[in-house]
Amino acid sequence: MRVLVTGAAGFIGHHVSARLLARGDAVIGVDNLDPAGDVALKQARLARLRHLPGAEAFTFHAVDITDREALRALFERERPRRVVHLAARVGVRAGANSANGYLDTNVTGFLQLLECARGVEHLVYASSSSVYGGGTPPPFREDAAADRPLNLYAATKRADELLAHVHGHLHGLPTSGLRFFTVYGPWGRPDMAPLRFLRALREGRPIDLYGEGRMRRDFTHVDDVAEAVLRVLDRPPTGTPPYRLLNVGRGEPVALRDFLAVLERHLGTPARLNLLPAQPGEMESTWADPSALERETGFRPRVSVEEGLARLVEWDAQHSGR
Ligand code: NAD
Repeated sequence: MRVLVTGAAGFIGHHVSARLLARGDAVIGVDNLDPAGDVALKQARLARLRHLPGAEAFTFHAVDITDREALRALFERERPRRVVHLAARVGVRAGANSANGYLDTNVTGFLQLLECARGVEHLVYASSSSVYGGGTPPPFREDAAADRPLNLYAATKRADELLAHVHGHLHGLPTSGLRFFTVYGPWGRPDMAPLRFLRALREGRPIDLYGEGRMRRDFTHVDDVAEAVLRVLDRPPTGTPPYRLLNVGRGEPVALRDFLAVLERHLGTPARLNLLPAQPGEMESTWADPSALERETGFRPRVSVEEGLARLVEWDAQHSGR
């Protein structure tokens, strides 16, 4: 099967592409490599592309999804059967200072992708646990209102879900929106807490911890996330419209300071903390109800934080410095 993956040089895109290639699919990778972004993040993207196994069936296209003509030409030339859309302006904290970037990529770019993807068998796209925002009672279920986002990123992800619904209704485009809950693992984002904590611990640097680490996150290992993406991709929705939303999370939230304590234990090093006030726009807790994913695909995320962090520590020891 020919699958187009946007954000293929990103963290989750790397793992999804690797799994598709491993099972014999051809992957058309798309990523703009974020030309204006941070140097460490750029290096991480290039390293992920270099380390993609099975790359004979992988073609890479440095295309920005906001470039309508380039995206359309790519779809016409490559004719993918299915699409996994992971490209996005990510992160909940930077939102206030770079509003246009969020809207351009996450909303306009997504809308263009929906238009280009008309006629494909299935479009699976990344939404986020952040759409549950404030006031949703835990554990979060997909049928909650999700109409009180706390930051711009969350609002753009919710907008994507609404746009996908429109395209299902008007054009019959089958879509599945996956609400990922804090994903971590090998090839992770160096700006996110798991790798930030781990590298600071290894190097003896102090760790910035917001809100005394009381915030709880439903940490989900990237191997589980990639498995969920493939299972969903193989099962297009059949309802009218052919549209669905699914949580991808374990259903076991962990406080950030407890997550850090597991890392300290694995590394045998106590953390030096730089305690900072909680940030506006952050949710206090995220907590998935994973039962809809299990009902639809027979799968629920299963890698515990204990095991996931042991694997991450081992991976980082092998790859740090490369
Ligand atoms: P990532 O930043 O590692 O990957 C995103 C990729 O998209 C990057 O390689 C970037 O270069 C690319 N990109 C950005 N703008 C682009 C554009 N205009 N055109 C083409 N490519 C562009 O992020 P990730 O953690 O792999 O996240 C993948 C998806 O999952 C994103 O949509 C994100 O919002 C969503 N998500 C991630 C998490 C998480 O914890 N990592 C949680 C919830 C949702």
